[in-house]
Amino acid sequence: MKANEILSNGSRRAFLQLSAVATAAAAFRIATEASLAAEDRKVFHPGAVVIDANENPLGPCDAARKAIVDMAPQGGRYSYWLAEEFVKTFTEMEGLKPEYVRVFPGSSEPLHFSVLAFTSPAKSYVTADPGYEAGMKAAKISGARIVKTPLTKTYAHDIKAMLAAAPDAGLFYVCTPNNPTGTLTPHSDIEQLLAAKPKGSVVLVDEAYIHFSDGVSVLDLVKADRDVVVLRTFSKIYGMAGIRCGMAIARPDLLAKLENFSGWSAMPITALAAATASLKHEHLVSDRKKLNAEIRQKTFDWLGSHGYSYVPSQSNCFMLDTKRPAKEVIDAMAARNVYIGRIWPVWPTYTRITIGTQQEMETFQEAFDAVMSNAKTVSFARPSSPASSRGSRFYADGQNWPNA
Ligand code: PLP
Repeated sequence: MKANEILSNGSRRAFLQLSAVATAAAAFRIATEASLAAEDRKVFHPGAVVIDANENPLGPCDAARKAIVDMAPQGGRYSYWLAEEFVKTFTEMEGLKPEYVRVFPGSSEPLHFSVLAFTSPAKSYVTADPGYEAGMKAAKISGARIVKTPLTKTYAHDIKAMLAAAPDAGLFYVCTPNNPTGTLTPHSDIEQLLAAKPKGSVVLVDEAYIHFSDGVSVLDLVKADRDVVVLRTFSKIYGMAGIRCGMAIARPDLLAKLENFSGWSAMPITALAAATASLKHEHLVSDRKKLNAEIRQKTFDWLGSHGYSYVPSQSNCFMLDTKRPAKEVIDAMAARNVYIGRIWPVWPTYTRITIGTQQEMETFQEAFDAVMSNAKTVSFARPSSPASSRGSRFYADGQNWPNA
């Protein structure tokens, strides 16, 4: 073999190795609410009100904090059985079989792995717009066509439009309550989607915010062995975003496809201890749901009485009408040490607001009123169909553009 052939074979091998490494690296570039919020964030100043990442200001409950402290001395061991104990606690509460649940450090990973497992250049990824963006980032890695459909007039996922737009669908992503709007997609709509979807496709139902709402979970559809994967996280009502625990709940053959990407890496045992203690807490969900709803309602009352419009939400976040490019308002609020966001390009004059503590929401109100009084309103071109008379909180015309 000539020297240049040896060189070119070596280079080709090196190139193939490098590109395999690059592909693997891309496959594990997982987007999370934290990374998405951080893309827009500036450095926080002391005393900042941070309501831009759907975090829970309460943090873990007391029982979870104690469980973390009690578990810490055992931190030198992997203690795999704690994952089994956690799964046992959850499945007994929900009437599921243990093999239907897989625990992860948060639900971002199973979201990402579901997209990699069920989409490809031939199998598209179907989602709502505005909707949670992490899955779209994963779909770029799998090379899938990304199909975005507007929400309905009641801000639910438009199941009919999703089906019509993607006869080649590999995965339908339904986030309910939706991030960022905090609006529900009815259980019956998800059943319709399952009944009419293309053969072999899967429905991924993200229930990250379900505990804040009166929405009905679709865990019954998992129990019925349908083609559905449900995601749950401890980052929202349980206040454990920084502790990291989440789940994928599905038929074992669907979970096995996710495990092709995730393997069997050990969970942090402090996260398992805190999550198990949180599940066993009798009033945590009901107390925090009530508190969030009260602060949210007070915020809505204040907005309504000051002439501002918003999309009514059942979650710990909502979309607020800024009546001008929302970026301007976000920047002006940041200058007042109140961090809000993000923006979804399809609604450029709206920004997402997370429900913080009552005190944080009062600081937000003061800053928002000052910012809105200082700025001039500009008007934006809307889709051509006529505005309806349904009131400021509903779509003008079902064209995915809230009435200003
Ligand atoms: N799904 C939705 C809709 C979210 O908003 C988030 C985070 O904000 C996640 C999943 C993932 O959260 P985590 O990885 O913290 O569990």
